[in-house]
Amino acid sequence: MRRVYLDNNATTPLLPEVLEAMRPCFFEKFGNASSIHQQGQQARAAVEHARESVAELLNCRPAEVVFTSGGTEGDNLALFGIFGNMQPGNHVITSSIEHHAVLNSCHRLEQMGCSVTYLPVDGRALVDPDDVHRALRPETKLISIMTANNETGVLQPVSEIGRIAAEADVYFHTDAVQAVGKVPVDVKEIGCDLLTISAHKIHGPQGTGALFVRKGTLLQPLFYGGRHERSRRAGTENLAGIVGLGKVAEIARLGFTDGSVARMAELRDRLEQTILENVEQVAVNSGGAPRVPNTTNISFDCIEGEAMVIALDLKGLSVSTGAACSSGAVEPSHILTAMGLSAERARGSIRFSLGKQNTAEDVEFALALVPEVIARLRELSPVYKAVSHQPSALS
Ligand code: PLP
Repeated sequence: MRRVYLDNNATTPLLPEVLEAMRPCFFEKFGNASSIHQQGQQARAAVEHARESVAELLNCRPAEVVFTSGGTEGDNLALFGIFGNMQPGNHVITSSIEHHAVLNSCHRLEQMGCSVTYLPVDGRALVDPDDVHRALRPETKLISIMTANNETGVLQPVSEIGRIAAEADVYFHTDAVQAVGKVPVDVKEIGCDLLTISAHKIHGPQGTGALFVRKGTLLQPLFYGGRHERSRRAGTENLAGIVGLGKVAEIARLGFTDGSVARMAELRDRLEQTILENVEQVAVNSGGAPRVPNTTNISFDCIEGEAMVIALDLKGLSVSTGAACSSGAVEPSHILTAMGLSAERARGSIRFSLGKQNTAEDVEFALALVPEVIARLRELSPVYKAVSHQPSALS
């Protein structure tokens, strides 16, 4: 059976050229980057080459790149790393639509004596920079607002928030896990002190990422051990993972000029537009906001998202109801409810997210399945039967 994968915000398939770049790290170039012999030097050179590639992608200095085990560690290192320099009573500003890697870190910071403001978002899931400004207090030490949202793809006004943070002399962290490779991410333009990325969202290996740490930022490590990563992240470097991240950073940079990002945007737009035209009682969540080019989140009236994901999966299409980390949870997405969607509408929402491997045929495959599956599920839905004569809740 043909399978089409449109859940690239959960994870992406490794590109063959990335595997090729990583392969020697398991065999002839397997050294420990801290060893002084030849294999060690080879590994060190590979790690530093990858660091330069990530630095070029983010427009920072190589020394400002700290390799991590992924987005979750990057977010934790940013928040707890800064908190290491804070006193109880210090204040953090974040938003209600962050990934759980940030939200649950903030909850832990509260238990540790910090106070946290969770900013609301508007109906398009956008944070208002004026709200950030108003939330500032003399004790505010850190602002953490994501660059792009994992469920809706909405791009936050991070450059404006960066300016507010700089004026207030407050650290600014942004989780750019879902933005990098999809839109240009430039730490100077954003004006952030800390920025998180993860390799597996851009066709690199799972379990690898990086945190940009602006020169001069005082950061307490999460782990204690050797003096790896300039004492910011102890532990023998994940050589193959880091080399893979370096390679995808190079590919991500090229994506803005080789047409691959533009092609992904065209495919996403075709998918979204055609669903809107061919299926009744649907709405695009955050359709009016600036978004990354690969994501569309659509609410289908009178549908249980989980049922739709399962029905589409059985027919060969992989999509998602929300963040992969919360799948299996019955609660509606905290992101969709924060932007004002009813629990019912949030539960009926599906995220389609494209990657570099997706083709026009993949989109046509999805477009052939979605209306059919929706019609079948609605036929079984007593709620749909009851409301089908009423005007749509989504109109
Ligand atoms: N931040 C965002 C916005 C994400 O979407 C994810 C993963 O879904 C993470 C952080 C966590 O990244 P990782 O899976 O690399 O730990």
